[in-house]
Amino acid sequence: MQNRITKLFNIRYPIIQAGMIWCSGWQLASEVSNAGGLGIIGAGSMYPDILKEHIKKCKLATSLPFAVNLPLLYPDIHLHINTIIEEGVKIVFTSAGNPTIYTPLLKENGITVVHVVSNEKFAKKAEASGVDAIVGEGFEAGGHNGREETTTLCLIPQLLNAVQIPVIAAGGIGSGRTMLAALSLGAEGVQIGSRFVLSEESSAHQNFKDIILLSTDGSTELSLKQLTPVRLLKNGFFNQVKQAEDLCATKEELKALLGRGRAKRGMFEGDVNEGELEIGQISGYLKSIKPAKEIINEIVNDYNSALNELNQQRL
Ligand code: NDP
Ligand code: NDP
Repeated sequence: MQNRITKLFNIRYPIIQAGMIWCSGWQLASEVSNAGGLGIIGAGSMYPDILKEHIKKCKLATSLPFAVNLPLLYPDIHLHINTIIEEGVKIVFTSAGNPTIYTPLLKENGITVVHVVSNEKFAKKAEASGVDAIVGEGFEAGGHNGREETTTLCLIPQLLNAVQIPVIAAGGIGSGRTMLAALSLGAEGVQIGSRFVLSEESSAHQNFKDIILLSTDGSTELSLKQLTPVRLLKNGFFNQVKQAEDLCATKEELKALLGRGRAKRGMFEGDVNEGELEIGQISGYLKSIKPAKEIINEIVNDYNSALNELNQQRL
């Protein structure tokens, strides 16, 4: 398949592995790229020296294109941008912030820029700032999420009406069949997170991977809407937040309950009761941990067989 997204990134399949804090280091990113997708190093949880190390290792592990996800709310963002430019990273996915501030600098340095959005207004703003493509992330997605609660099925057609640049769909996609659904909406690529948390190469703690395998529909919920909305797997920490919210806790009380480093504690250190576990709704469908390469092959085969099935059902 060739479309604007495969050409933009120079990749075989329009399958992009989401940049995920604590879960997507160089091992996962390089394996996804080697398998024909686009791997992304999640820089949000990395100190600047750690990001440098991961980029260097990724360059050694793959000669194919890979990207870095840069959450724009990252505290030492200038240091991350310097590293990205110095190390010659060619593709950056920005998220969680205003794309007008850093897109020009990244573009001046020859970097392809993609911005993650959750609504039409942000999509138009991203396009006006000069990004090359956008990721439209629906309500099903794990981790940080839009306030509008627009599902991927509704969001993607709205974004396609709003912008001319290519749209990549994210949220609720974990198989070839769901990828086909996204492409039939008009998206030119898919960004997949949760499925790759359950890869052998993801740096998520084994306890986190194991508990995801137990999830069913209803195991995740959007939480902390007063602070930054985030889709979490329900656990002890989630219940504490819910209880506090039911008692009308203030923002300050919620911030105090969250504390610092909750996500690291849950997803990287494996405290699945007290830590923050960011995962998408699709987790209820995911039943195995596999090498990233097998995941990509499975998605591609599943996509092709679903497409064949549909072709036989022409109206
Ligand atoms: P390696 O397997 O080569 O290195 C493992 C390193 O990770 C060891 O130095 C180990 O420290 C450290 N480590 C293991 N568990 C933890 C933990 N719970 N908290 C902090 N450090 C831990 O891994 P990579 O080459 O993939 O990683 C290089 C660096 O990047 C490491 O420091 C790793 O922690 C970090 N990393 C960060 C990610 C993020 O999102 N921020 C994602 C993946 C890795 P020790 O020697 O003390 O056992
Ligand atoms: P907290 O404020 O609770 O904790 C900060 C965590 O980030 C710590 O675990 C810390 O590691 C690590 N960290 C890495 N680099 C730095 C740095 N330069 N300064 C301070 N801490 C750093 O934040 P969260 O765990 O909730 O979120 C961590 C980061 O993830 C956010 O700053 C943000 O950039 C990013 N994020 C991005 C999202 C996205 O859009 N994809 C979604 C959610 C978060 P240590 O414990 O080893 O000190």
